[in-house]
Formats: sequence, structure tokens, C-alpha cells
Amino acid sequence: MTLLVPATHPSDVLSAYRDTPIASLLAYHNLRRRHRRHARAELLLALCLDQPGRLRVPDSFAFVLRTGGGNVKALDFHVSLAVALGGMRALALVGHDECGLVDLVRRRDAFVARLREHGGWLRGDAEDHFDRNAPLFEAGDVGELVLSEAARLRARYPRLLVAPLFYRIREDRLYQLVESSS
Ligand SMILES: [Zn+2]
Repeated sequence: MTLLVPATHPSDVLSAYRDTPIASLLAYHNLRRRHRRHARAELLLALCLDQPGRLRVPDSFAFVLRTGGGNVKALDFHVSLAVALGGMRALALVGHDECGLVDLVRRRDAFVARLREHGGWLRGDAEDHFDRNAPLFEAGDVGELVLSEAARLRARYPRLLVAPLFYRIREDRLYQLVESSS
């Protein structure tokens, strides 16, 4: 089970995120903190491909990576580049509601048909491509997916601050994702 912890006041920010780029992200977007120019980017921001709009952060503050579900499973080298060359110390993984990846595996026929029509793929290649990759990106529950991805990345990059977050489209707000004990 996942729990969404609001961040509508600075005191709502989880202690692990205080005085870090994650707290800045929450303040910039949710609290509309005034933008300042950052000397260098501090945060790697992993967003989903189909999350509408953009988060209210200064351009100089974050590197943005857009992937299916904000999932970087197949893209660890991009994370490594941001950490090793970009100097990032923090990564925000952002899932969102109304996500097109929910029940992805059930949308195989539509995926194959469109990849043939719009991408010019042969049916067998499109089916094979889907079957190899869709299970990695399937999001039965977006919150669970983001939490499990955060746990994997914390194990792989033990000194990187990894924050699982959730964006509610209609509210235009970010929440902090935590594992619920019940
Ligand atoms: Zn999405």
C-alpha cells in the first residue's frame, strides 16, 4: 500500500528531504516559491512521458528525464551520467494519476496496431517488441511502481537521495509517496 503525504507547507516536508533539492522542488512547485538562478543543476527529475504540463521549477535547477512512468529501469546509464558528470546529488521519481501505463499489458493490441500504422513496423516485430518491454513498464499501481523503483535505485546508488513523488493532475500538486504500514 502507498500513502500520499501532502506538501502544502514547508513543515510537511519529510525529514529526509529537508534542506535538500527535493524540498526545493516541493517549494518551487507546490508553494510557488520565487525562482532563483542556480549556478548548476541540483536535481535529476524523472517524469512520465504523458504527464501533462511541466513542473514550476527554474530551468537552471534540474535535469529532466521523461520516460514511460518516470521509470528508469532500462536507463540507469542516464542516471549515472547525471550523477557522475552532471554532479546531481538527488533524484525525484515522479508518478502521476491518469497515467497511460496503467494496465499497459492489456493494451497490447492497440500498441501493436498503432506501431504498425504510425511507426511502420511489421506485426511480428511490434508484438515481440511489446512483449519484451511492456512488463518492465507496466504500472498496475503507479504509486507501487514508483516506490519499488525508488527502492531499487537507493540500493544501486546508496549515496544518492532518491525521492518517490506523485503528481495529481487536477490539483496540479506534488505529493510525497511513502509505504503505508497497513
Ligand atoms: Zn504516465
